[in-house]
Amino acid sequence: MKKRVTKIGVLTSGGDAPGMNACIRAVVRTGIYHGMDVFGIMRGYTGMVENDIFKMESRSVANIIQRGGTVLKTSRCKDFFTPEGRKKAYENLTGLGINGLVIIGGDGSFRGAQTFSNEYDIPCIGLPGTIDKDIAGTDFTIGFDTAVNTAVEAIDKIRDTADAHDRLFIIEVMGRDAGYIALHSGISTGAENILIPERKTDIEEIIKQLAEKERRHKLVNLIVVAEGDEFGGADYVAKIIKERLPMQEVRVCILGHIQRGGSPSCFDRLIASRMGYSAVECFMEGRYNVFVGMVNNRMHFTPLNEAVKKKQRISEEWMKIVKILAS
Ligand code: ADP
Repeated sequence: MKKRVTKIGVLTSGGDAPGMNACIRAVVRTGIYHGMDVFGIMRGYTGMVENDIFKMESRSVANIIQRGGTVLKTSRCKDFFTPEGRKKAYENLTGLGINGLVIIGGDGSFRGAQTFSNEYDIPCIGLPGTIDKDIAGTDFTIGFDTAVNTAVEAIDKIRDTADAHDRLFIIEVMGRDAGYIALHSGISTGAENILIPERKTDIEEIIKQLAEKERRHKLVNLIVVAEGDEFGGADYVAKIIKERLPMQEVRVCILGHIQRGGSPSCFDRLIASRMGYSAVECFMEGRYNVFVGMVNNRMHFTPLNEAVKKKQRISEEWMKIVKILAS
C-alpha cells in the first residue's frame, strides 16, 4: 500500500524559465484544494539542504501568474550531488513532515529527483521547466514558447536595421545542445539559414548562396545560429564569412539572457497550469516518481528514470522548408 501524500514541497531548480511561477501557483492551489499542506522550497535543492523552506497559502501565489523568473528562486546545488547533502535534505523535509516533492526544472533536476527518490521514501513528481524543449516525453516544456517569441520579436527588429543598411546579420539564440529555439524562431522570421547543434552545416554552400545574393543585390540576410552549433556560435560563423567574403557587411547580435526573462506567453501559462495541477493529481492517484509532460495535447507520464535529454533528429523536411522559403 502506498503511503498517502499529505504534505508536499515545491521547488524550481536549474535554469529558470518563464511560466515557472504559473506552475508554482497551480501546484500550491491544487494541493490546498485537496487538503494538503504545501511548502515552498527556496533556491532549488539548496533550500532543501539548508532548510530554507516555508509554508505556503493560497495567497502566497497571488499575482504571480504573469511574472517571469521564479518567486521560489533557483540554483544549481553542488551539495545535492553528494549522499551527505541528500541525507541532510531528507532530514529537513521529514522534520517538517513533507512526504511528497514537486520539482520544476530541466533534465538535470530530474536526475537529482530520481537519485533522491531511489534513496529515500519521498515520492517525486517532475515538471519540465526549461526554455530548451530538450526533454523526451513531452512535446513542449514550460518556457519554450515565451523564449521563442522573445527571439522572434528581437529578430524582427534586427531585420529592420539589416534592411535599412543592406547588412548581413548573424543572430545567436540560446541552445547549447538543442536547436529548437533557433529552428522555430528562424523559420518564423524568414531567416535565410539556420545553424543548429543537431546538424552539420555546409558552410561552403552558405558562402556560395551569400555570394550569389550579393550578385543579385538581394542583400538582406539573416542567419540564425544556436549557441551550440558546430562552429561554436555567431562570432565564429561571422569570422568565417568575413574571411571568405570581405565585401559583405556582417554584424553579430547575441540575444542572450533576454530569452529567459519576461512575462510568460498564454501558451506557457496554460501548460504550466495544467502540468502543476496534474502533478498534484499524480499524488492523489498514487502515481509516483514520474515527470508530467504533454503529448498531443494530453498529459503524459514518464518514469523519472527515463527522463533524458532529447536528441531529436531534425527532419529533412524542416530544413527544406527553410531553404525553399528563403530563396
Ligand atoms: P537543469 O535542471 O536545468 O537541467 P542542472 O543540470 O544544472 O539544471 O541541474 C540542476 C540541479 O539538479 C543540479 O545543480 C543538482 O543540484 C541537481 N542534480 C543534477 N544531476 C544530479 C545528479 N545526478 N544527482 C544529484 N543531483 C543532481
